[in-house]
Amino acid sequence: MELVGFVHKYEWGKVGKDSAVAQLATLNDPAFNVDEKTPYAELWMGSHPSGPSKYKSSGINLQDELPFLLKVLSINKALSIQVHPNKSEAEKLHSKLPNIYKDPNHKPEMAIALTPFTGLCGFRPLPEIRDILQNIEPLKALAVEDPNDLKLLAANDESGLRNCYRKLMNAEKNAIGECIDAISKDYTKELYKHNIHEIFNTLKSDFPNDVGVLSLFFLNVVRLQPGQAMFLGANQIHAYLSGDCVECMACSDNVIRAGLTPKYKDIKQLLSSLEYTGAPAECKIFTPVRVDAHRLIFKPPVEDFSLIQLTLKPSDLEYVLKVEQSPGILLVISGERYLESYGLDKLKLKRGSIVYLPFESDTELRFLPAGEGEHEFLAYISTPNAASSCKSNV
Ligand SMILES: [Zn+2]
Repeated sequence: MELVGFVHKYEWGKVGKDSAVAQLATLNDPAFNVDEKTPYAELWMGSHPSGPSKYKSSGINLQDELPFLLKVLSINKALSIQVHPNKSEAEKLHSKLPNIYKDPNHKPEMAIALTPFTGLCGFRPLPEIRDILQNIEPLKALAVEDPNDLKLLAANDESGLRNCYRKLMNAEKNAIGECIDAISKDYTKELYKHNIHEIFNTLKSDFPNDVGVLSLFFLNVVRLQPGQAMFLGANQIHAYLSGDCVECMACSDNVIRAGLTPKYKDIKQLLSSLEYTGAPAECKIFTPVRVDAHRLIFKPPVEDFSLIQLTLKPSDLEYVLKVEQSPGILLVISGERYLESYGLDKLKLKRGSIVYLPFESDTELRFLPAGEGEHEFLAYISTPNAASSCKSNV
């Protein structure tokens, strides 16, 4: 059940062999040729109609409807600041504006870093936003209408954030451009203090006059090391800025955009959907559950998907994994192993292998040593989430 993934060449992707997407696609599909001038942004694994995977043996598209889509992303240039509606909002938006909101589903997402990864996620603690506004005069002029909003922010009152962010998002394009220029001239000290000078300059040159550049002062910058994850639930504001990651999400295209994009920004919908809670950046790192020395489970509070991370040293003996939920997709990031299961031929797994696991729940997968390879075997397996363990949180 080996699959060939679908590659998307969006312009924000990393270019040529520098892209983890290109590296994995080359190993996944011998017919795939990397062009050193082309960006390779996303590798899709699943049955989404915009990029279905194919069976390697027959070339036929994977038809089974999966509740999730597994991806690898290689990011060179920031993706738009966005939120995803919850299920009931998605249903309403889809029936009202089907051209923009293409399906009635929610789109929770989980990103696990493959290389050092930077993203924006959620609002900063409200008192911190208050201090930033207080110290950066041009930003205060643009975002603060009533001085009382600063007091509300200091007192951790969400209405202060709601008012200031609304004012900022509705600012005129010229005023936004002037504010960005003034900050880069006169407030570099503030940029260094919050360790965002580099990101600020990159976004400023990639997205001139875009309000998303100023969102940096409202949103947490989250830096993930390989293996660390963040989970983006409904109406959590976020943007991916740089790095490579494995991403799993519910099967949907619903995005409400807020900046760092030439695409349509639905500011009104965004402001009414957003969750206006402040929290420190560290809180945005998602903690997986350790099952044993080799296995971690990233289990978000939604039914659509969970992710298993499996690591085995070349010297480790056979490892048996019972996949509790079905169907699953397995992606190998590094190392080599043989995979055995009931009624299947032994399959050699290596970097770039993508395997569809349409088994009954509780089928045993046996990972056997595969020779002298010196790299640690690292694989991610996405499956639906066990409903019983997450229902209370939905
Ligand atoms: Zn998103």
